[in-house]
Amino acid sequence: MASPLNPPRRILLGPGPSNPHPRVLEALSAPVVGHLDPEFFKVMEESKAMLRWLFHTDNELTFPVSGTGSAGMETCLVNLIEEGDTVLVCVNGVFGTRMADIVERLGGNLVKVEAPWGEIIRPEQVEQALKDHKVDIVTLVHAETSTGVLQPVEEISRLTHDAGALLVLDTVTSLGGCPVTIDAWNVDATYSGTQKCLSCPPGLSPVSFNQAARDKLGRRKGKVKSWYLDLTMIERYWGEDRAYHHTAPISMNYGLHAALSEVENEGLEARFARHELNHRALVAGLEVLGIPLASQEGHRLWMLNSVKIPEGVNDAALRKRLLLDFNIEIGGGLGALAGKTWRIGLMGESSRRDNVVALVQALGQILKEEGADVPVTDALGAIEGVYTRG
Ligand SMILES: *Cc1c(COP(=O)(O)O)cnc(C)c1O
Repeated sequence: MASPLNPPRRILLGPGPSNPHPRVLEALSAPVVGHLDPEFFKVMEESKAMLRWLFHTDNELTFPVSGTGSAGMETCLVNLIEEGDTVLVCVNGVFGTRMADIVERLGGNLVKVEAPWGEIIRPEQVEQALKDHKVDIVTLVHAETSTGVLQPVEEISRLTHDAGALLVLDTVTSLGGCPVTIDAWNVDATYSGTQKCLSCPPGLSPVSFNQAARDKLGRRKGKVKSWYLDLTMIERYWGEDRAYHHTAPISMNYGLHAALSEVENEGLEARFARHELNHRALVAGLEVLGIPLASQEGHRLWMLNSVKIPEGVNDAALRKRLLLDFNIEIGGGLGALAGKTWRIGLMGESSRRDNVVALVQALGQILKEEGADVPVTDALGAIEGVYTRG
């Protein structure tokens, strides 16, 4: 016999999932209805409206794909890319790398523009690549969760459209934590995820396609190379026809509906201000402990802090102690940054003052026990200072 399910209550300060709001967890256990039940249609329509509000878009084709953020990524790429299309992928971390992999699988002609991990992609780089190649699609990651960098979008969007290409933007980590304005930025297709700043468990990926993206989809010569993610069929279920394609994950959609309602209740300005303040408090505390940020100054995310691991500290052992003795999860570095950085998430419900204090206290205690002379009291004072000054 299997043991009874009994997961611990962790403080989730990694790169996602974040701690879900209690009302989201409640929604997950609401009665399951059929996917063609009028009560479920109401949930769908309200979630679509809330997603449009959150994305700042009027795009009719805005809904959650069944699957995690990567399914949203694949949805955007598989619907837009036809064999032989030239796709310019901006790569400055794990998620740009993943997009490049998908482009190659789809038979796209891959052109990469790269920046060191921890830095932004500069518009001049994209401008040059657009001169060198006749590009159909440009892809960009708004919030690179692997490096903690916030990518400016507007200039690259302008260059992309001047060159007659479409822009795909990854908003998995940014949505719900900082401003995402899809129509103002003229983003043609975007995808996000539920488990980062929306504080819903992983399982759905909100996507949005504008008319230019839908037109490209409509001009395809061949079928979309994925049956499951083919928007020409899925849009008939999320639109007025309500035609069956695959069974919508009912409970996950309840969870997303509750999560979006919580974002609405808090209000966007208050929510973004909270993410920004807690980020500044954490950074102030960590700096006193001798743990500096690893991401490019002026382009740092509020919801994901990539920091340098202090000299002589055993990365895996420390994170294990944090998890088992303090119940706190943080993330390790990925790729070139493995063993060199930690990734500390302050996403959605996890972005809280008590979490910032608990983490700095725990890190200070562990480093002290390992013999480092770290001023924990001063670090906590620096954090309090940020909250007092606002
Ligand atoms: C988490 C993440 C993804 C992938 O989402 P999954 O839910 O893990 O599939 C894609 N892009 C970014 C920027 C992410 O942070």
